[in-house]
Amino acid sequence: MIDLRSDTVTRPTSAMRRAMAEAEVGDDVYGEDPTVNRLERRAAEIMGKEAAVLVPTGTMGNTIAVKLHTGHGQEVICEARSHVFNYELAMMAWFSGCLARPISSPDGILQWDQIRREIRPLGPHWAPTGLIEIEDTHNMAGGAVYPLEVIRQISDGAHELGVKVHMDGARVFNAAEALGISVREIVKPVDTVMFCLSKALGAPVGSMLAGTGEAIAQGRLYRKRLGGGMRQAGVLAAAGLIALEEHPKLLRRDHENARFLATALARIPGIGIDAPAVQTNIVIFDVSGTGLTPSEFSARLKQRDVLINGINAHQMRIVTHYDVDRAGCQQALEMIEQVAAGAVAGARA
Ligand SMILES: *Cc1c(COP(=O)(O)O)cnc(C)c1O
Repeated sequence: MIDLRSDTVTRPTSAMRRAMAEAEVGDDVYGEDPTVNRLERRAAEIMGKEAAVLVPTGTMGNTIAVKLHTGHGQEVICEARSHVFNYELAMMAWFSGCLARPISSPDGILQWDQIRREIRPLGPHWAPTGLIEIEDTHNMAGGAVYPLEVIRQISDGAHELGVKVHMDGARVFNAAEALGISVREIVKPVDTVMFCLSKALGAPVGSMLAGTGEAIAQGRLYRKRLGGGMRQAGVLAAAGLIALEEHPKLLRRDHENARFLATALARIPGIGIDAPAVQTNIVIFDVSGTGLTPSEFSARLKQRDVLINGINAHQMRIVTHYDVDRAGCQQALEMIEQVAAGAVAGARA
């Protein structure tokens, strides 16, 4: 099977499995797991923040961040297709008592001008704005990357109004690779950042939330409340350290594979794609021109040992990662061509 459904499907490398087997561990709820402590220190250093905490999932990291920055009855400004709004089971409402204030942006990137108009002052009618959330790279906008200047404008503007900014940086290392700068520079203006070790960086489990020492100390308490206080988590952190130190350099190849696929998909009759917009490891394309729905398309690909999912009524999403090399991408492409050609011919007949 060539699995391009997500970069979460990456399996731990043999180096990771060895490190996991040999990891020095302790009880992390007591703060005594040396490997977790090392991972948290390194993550904080790499992000240029005072502290970081290991959480089991990105959803928990975002949930804790929303809770840290808001009070009940506030609004969280986010992009309309954002993960925090659409794919986290309404956790901002469930756990933090907040309402999302989604703003649509065709390319997934919010501009300060759009945000400023939606910031609610204290008053007799409005829920006050508690937090601005930005997603970099933007998953459902095809891995779009925030320009550094836009992050600075949003953060400066928000901070002037006393509003905090959280970055859902599940794939912020992909953004850094695309911009050719350090993640530290990208996240410098924001108050907290969550990133995933478990996506293209390849760790089996784990995300990190980084911010001020005070925020992260409080965040540990919310993590415990959410059931995220893990014990000998050093076995996970050992793989996480390899993901963090060694795997950012692998992302370049993922991006080249994504561009290769995007360029080739643009030549297939019936497939719609904005190939030049592909900046990182996510390729979103429209199959409606073939006459097939994404789920039909997906089922036909599966019969050909290729896994790619639909994301809505007309689009599908490929996510490249280190477990599928160029030859695998080439083969997936051939199967997509076959399915598309068969469908287009069938529709004509
Ligand atoms: C994957 C992802 C998350 C976190 O997902 P989990 O499955 O909870 O780890 C958060 N934000 C974005 C943009 C993601 O792609």
